[in-house]
Amino acid sequence: MSLRLYNTLTRRVEPFVPLEPPRVTLYTCGPTVYNYAHIGNFRTFLFEDLLRRHLEAQGFDVLHIMNLTDVDDRTIKAAAAAGVPLAQHTEPFVRAFFEDRDYLRIRPAHVYPRATECIAPMVELVSRLLERGLAYRGEDGVYFAIGKFPTYGCLSRVERRELQTGARVASDEYAKEDARDFALWKFADPTDEQAGAAWDAPFGRGRPGWHLECSAMALQEIRRFGVQTLDIHAGAVDLIFPHHENEIAQSEGVTGQPFARFWLHGEFLQIQGTKMSKRTGNFLTARDLKEEGVDPAAFRMLVFSTHYRQQLNYTDEALEAAAEGVRRLGEFRDRLVEAAGAAEAARGADAGGDGLPPLPILPPLPPVEELRRSFTAAMEDDLNAPQALGAVFTFVRAMNRELDGGSLAPVQRGAALAVFDRVMAVLDVLPAVAEMDAEFRAWVETHLREREAARKARDFARADALRTELLARGVELEDGPGGTRWRKRRGMEGGGL
Ligand code: AMP
Ligand code: ZN
Repeated sequence: MSLRLYNTLTRRVEPFVPLEPPRVTLYTCGPTVYNYAHIGNFRTFLFEDLLRRHLEAQGFDVLHIMNLTDVDDRTIKAAAAAGVPLAQHTEPFVRAFFEDRDYLRIRPAHVYPRATECIAPMVELVSRLLERGLAYRGEDGVYFAIGKFPTYGCLSRVERRELQTGARVASDEYAKEDARDFALWKFADPTDEQAGAAWDAPFGRGRPGWHLECSAMALQEIRRFGVQTLDIHAGAVDLIFPHHENEIAQSEGVTGQPFARFWLHGEFLQIQGTKMSKRTGNFLTARDLKEEGVDPAAFRMLVFSTHYRQQLNYTDEALEAAAEGVRRLGEFRDRLVEAAGAAEAARGADAGGDGLPPLPILPPLPPVEELRRSFTAAMEDDLNAPQALGAVFTFVRAMNRELDGGSLAPVQRGAALAVFDRVMAVLDVLPAVAEMDAEFRAWVETHLREREAARKARDFARADALRTELLARGVELEDGPGGTRWRKRRGMEGGGL
């Protein structure tokens, strides 16, 4: 079996082979740190996390590079609006991004180059493009001449007749209709100077364009391996044009080598039928989810339940359904572990404590073999996570039946647990352990006593209201002959006060 991935460059699913196996260089466009990243951004970062984890599980040595866009049109505008220097505006959002990343269990990239710390390689790239006649000076900056680069448009398939050569576009973001010469370097204006976003360069004091930043940072990071080609470059579909198209032009214009072998693009997260975006204000952040006590595993499950190349519509119901799936997985794992523990204890007693009985040689359990096969097959097929999850739930149902039967040998349970945990290491969708703080426990106990008193006084309306209040914070009650027992529902974090 080998990994096959959809390559936007060829519009085909192709066998993935890195340039120099087992090394894989993976560059993913990182957040623009002018605000909190929203859960649409995180859908993309989670697809990239899944890609990275699968590659690692298959034995590749991944070098994961994610840049931080800490200078561009948007960051400068936001800093100016806040009346603070650029770095002062972006720093808290960089920290917030790392916190949110950790909350969502996204593996940290190996390097996070920041645009403002990589100005020298950017200046170098522009100088080389000028030398080669692929760039020229305009009145407000240095531009890339798309008419001089014959393969311009190869990724997004912008037709040559649509290219408006000689016409210019200065902004970092523009649509296909504006396939014009684009800004590599923007000469400093008073706003840039005020924000501290201007650097000297032989071709004029100014700041880099967003597209240039990624080319320079990616090439700088892979230079350590003596290569100029990335194995994989990823982002969401909105980056195909112009961002990635321009990255190709700038990089290949200098190196003469393919900039990336595989271009992977994830589809959008939608909310109420439109793209979640900061510009339109219809967004939710990871910290919103955290404050609502959402288990990060539930959000991961939600994201992986749709293939990365399909749009995903966010709803509270879908998140709740994902949380339910996560709870089922957690309960299943607890059951498997408990069963294994009980069997171990029994085995110890049988052996009289002075030696283990000989292990029986048993054939592998069909559900275990099936999970091993079908999970990998699904993931190797262009990261088909929904199908991989389907395989996991089929396994859980089959194993639950086996556990109900009570005839599993410890070695079989051990094998089941090992395979299940390996799969979970890729998806990472087991529930967060609910850590209850003392304050929360005290709050629950007080409410329980009050409810008990209300029941004694036959004030059932009050008792019900208290039950509802407890439930809202994930506390489930079970009234029995020995009194009321309570438990915290899985997947609800901490006290959540
Ligand atoms: P930005 O911080 O705007 O530079 O975006 C960071 C990443 O999130 C990029 O790969 C974007 O393409 C991606 N992105 C932006 N909006 C969405 C969305 N609604 N759904 C999925 N990915 C998105
Ligand atoms: Zn980029």
